Amino acid sequence: MPHHDPLRAMWEARREFGEHGGVCPSIERSSTFTVMDPTVMPEIFDGLRGPEKGGCFLYSRHFNPTVDVLARYLAAMEGTEAAVCTASGMSAIACSLLQICRGGDHIVSSDTVYGGTHALLAELLPSMQIETTFVDPRRAEDFVAATRPTTRVWYTETMGNPTLKIADIRALARLAHERQITLVVDNTFTPLMLAPAQLGADIVVYSLTKFVNGASDMIAGAICCSQDLQLQLMGLHTGRVMLFGPTMDPRAAFDIIQRLPSLGLRMQEHGRRALALARRAEELGAPVHYPGLPSHPQHALLASMVNPDFGFGGMFTIDCRTPELAERLMAALQNEERFGLIAVSLGYFDTLMSCSGSSTSSEIPPEDQERMELSPGLVRFAVGYTGTLEARLGQMERGLRSAGLL
Ligand code: PLP
Repeated sequence: MPHHDPLRAMWEARREFGEHGGVCPSIERSSTFTVMDPTVMPEIFDGLRGPEKGGCFLYSRHFNPTVDVLARYLAAMEGTEAAVCTASGMSAIACSLLQICRGGDHIVSSDTVYGGTHALLAELLPSMQIETTFVDPRRAEDFVAATRPTTRVWYTETMGNPTLKIADIRALARLAHERQITLVVDNTFTPLMLAPAQLGADIVVYSLTKFVNGASDMIAGAICCSQDLQLQLMGLHTGRVMLFGPTMDPRAAFDIIQRLPSLGLRMQEHGRRALALARRAEELGAPVHYPGLPSHPQHALLASMVNPDFGFGGMFTIDCRTPELAERLMAALQNEERFGLIAVSLGYFDTLMSCSGSSTSSEIPPEDQERMELSPGLVRFAVGYTGTLEARLGQMERGLRSAGLL
C-alpha cells in the first residue's frame, strides 16, 4: 500500500486561507499587479523576484494568487513539488508533451487513451515531426520494445479510457528511468485512489473537468510536476503554458478549490456504487467490466497500487457488442428507468453513459479501436451518487432486461 496520505497532505500538513483570515480563499481577479518601486519590475522579468521566490506577482497569465492556491492543493494531493493549472485537460497534456519533445523526438503511448489525446498524438504532433508509437498499456515490455534512441516520453492513463485497462505505473517508471525517459501519466479517472508520482511517474496530468471538479460545470486541467518543470512551463521565453496561454481563470480556480474538500467522500461513493452495480451486473450474467471486481484480470495489479480508502473508481463498462444494442440499453436506462443520462464525460453526481466507439473515442480509426479491444457496442458508465443505490440496482437490472441483454 502506498505511504502517501493525500488527505493529510492537503488538509492537515498545510491549509490555505483567504485574505483577512477568510476560511475560503480570496479570489484575486487582477490581470496585472503593481510594484511600489519601479526597479522591481525588471527584476521580476529577469526571474529574480517571481512569486515562487516569495516575491511579487506580475501578470495573471504567468502566476495568479488564486490559481496558485489550487495548484498548491493539487501538488499536495499528488505529492509533487509543484503544479500548474490550465484551462482544460487537453491543454495540460499538450503543453506537457510539447515542453519535453522537439521535432524529431518520439513518444511511446498507451493505445488506450482518451480520443482527443489519441488525435493529438496520432494526427497533430506528427505535423510537428513528433511521432508516436501506440502499445498495449498492460504490457510494460511493449513500451521498451517500441522505444527508439529519440524516445523522450512514455505516456499512459492509469485506467485507460474507455476499456479500463490498468497500467503498471511502478514498472513503467522503473523501465522509463533506466532509459532517461520521462513518464507522463493521466490520472483523470483515479484522483486520490492513485498517486502516480508516488509510484514513480514524473508528470501527472489531469482533466479537472471530471471527478476533481465533480459538477460538470467547467473545463479545467492541471500538470503536477517538479518545480523545475513548473518554471519551464511558465518561462517567459519558451514556457508552453506561458506562451500558448491556456490560463485558468481565478474564478474557476476558486470553484474547484471549494469542491476539493468533498473529493474524498465523492470518490468513495462513486467507487462504492460502481462496485455494487458491477457486482449485480456480474451476478446477472451481463458482460460487465470493472477493475474493482476480483474476477477482473488486472484486479490484483490495481489493488497493489491504490489507496484502499477510495475504492476502485467510478467507471465500469458493459459490452453490448453492437452500437444498436448499446443505444437500446442507454435509451432504456435513461428514458424508461431514469437510471442516468446519455452524455459524455465523467465524475458527475448523476450517472453518465455513452457508447465510446462512436463518441469520446470516435477520433480513433475503427482498425485501431479493434486493436485496442474497444468493441463498437461498449457502453461506458460513469457512476454517480444521486438517488438511492437500491433503486439504481433495480433500474439497471430492468434496463438490461428491456434491452435484451439478460
Ligand atoms: N484525459 C482524459 C482521460 C479524458 O477523459 C479527457 C476528456 O474526456 C481529457 C483528458 C481531456 O480533458 P478536457 O476535456 O478537460 O480538455
